Amino acid sequence: MVVLGIESTAHTASVGIVGEDAKVLSLASDFYLPPTGGIHPREAANHHVEVLPSLVGKALEAANVRPNEVDAVAFAQGPGLGPCLRAGATVARMLSLAWNRPLVPVNHCVAHVEIARVLSGLDDPLLLYASGGNTQVIAYARGRYRVLGETLDIGVGNFLDKFWLGLGGTFPGGPAIEAEALRGTELLDLPFSVHGMDVAFSGMLTAALALHAKGAKRPDLAYSVEVTAYSMLTEITERALAHRGKEAVVLGGGVACNGRLREMVRVMAESRGGATFAPPKSLCVDNGAMIAWTGHLAFHAGVTTSVEGSAVQPRQRTDLVPTPWRKD
Ligand code: AMP
Ligand code: MG
Repeated sequence: MVVLGIESTAHTASVGIVGEDAKVLSLASDFYLPPTGGIHPREAANHHVEVLPSLVGKALEAANVRPNEVDAVAFAQGPGLGPCLRAGATVARMLSLAWNRPLVPVNHCVAHVEIARVLSGLDDPLLLYASGGNTQVIAYARGRYRVLGETLDIGVGNFLDKFWLGLGGTFPGGPAIEAEALRGTELLDLPFSVHGMDVAFSGMLTAALALHAKGAKRPDLAYSVEVTAYSMLTEITERALAHRGKEAVVLGGGVACNGRLREMVRVMAESRGGATFAPPKSLCVDNGAMIAWTGHLAFHAGVTTSVEGSAVQPRQRTDLVPTPWRKD
């Protein structure tokens, strides 16, 4: 069975084609880069409308798959930016109608878990999902993926990007901060904002920008922001592992490309006798292959939608989405 998946929740427009056993036959992506400042949902959506049709063509060609060999069309139904989601959903509906193939709705956060789960071979890991817009600790329990902890304000990637823009840098901030942080030597004092299982970043953003205004050195600032933010994430991940009695952690989201975060989570998990896994970067960031693979699982479990029922859900909650392919 071959599934084509479409991702368009935020800046990434992506089409993946996935066969049996999560074999990624092709992945074609194009990222919206705002000329200045942060992402504007309407402009990102316009970008997606422009590139998605040719990404579908590229993905089919690279996979050497003809439209009549595609068994189902999956799309990210939410959560995400409304205009961006609608761009991807419209293309998915059109392909489903034109090819007469079932349409499969997929939750974006669940897709991050499922691609990491299958690639890791770990049966029931916890997911630290750290991306631009989302920051959540997710684990499966009693029929659903549950959000055990999350950001109370902005996503960690969004925090990094805003901090970097405040220093005069450009989007995306995460990779640039990672490079700058390698030269940092002094750990500056920043608010460590953990509230039970949750985290918050806006206080650290204000404090870091204030230190910058007072002349703090850039490498030290970058180093301190990374160490503080990633310690917060590692702490709530460890607490979630302890509470749920789980051992393994998988990582997902753009910020999970970060070497320091990967290492901190690895050391924490191994010190508890558990394992960690992070997918290759192309499957860690938003991508159509994770949507296609989750579409596989959902379709086999009987999840499809009519075009009429396929409205996007910008605020779709991970824990409200049924996952009938998972067994307790
Ligand atoms: P996503 O929202 O999952 O598409 O990921 C985008 C976010 O990941 C942006 O906020 C980037 O700044 C961040 N990001 C990408 N690469 C890295 C990295 N190496 N370290 C930290 N953050 C990163
Ligand atoms: Mg994502």
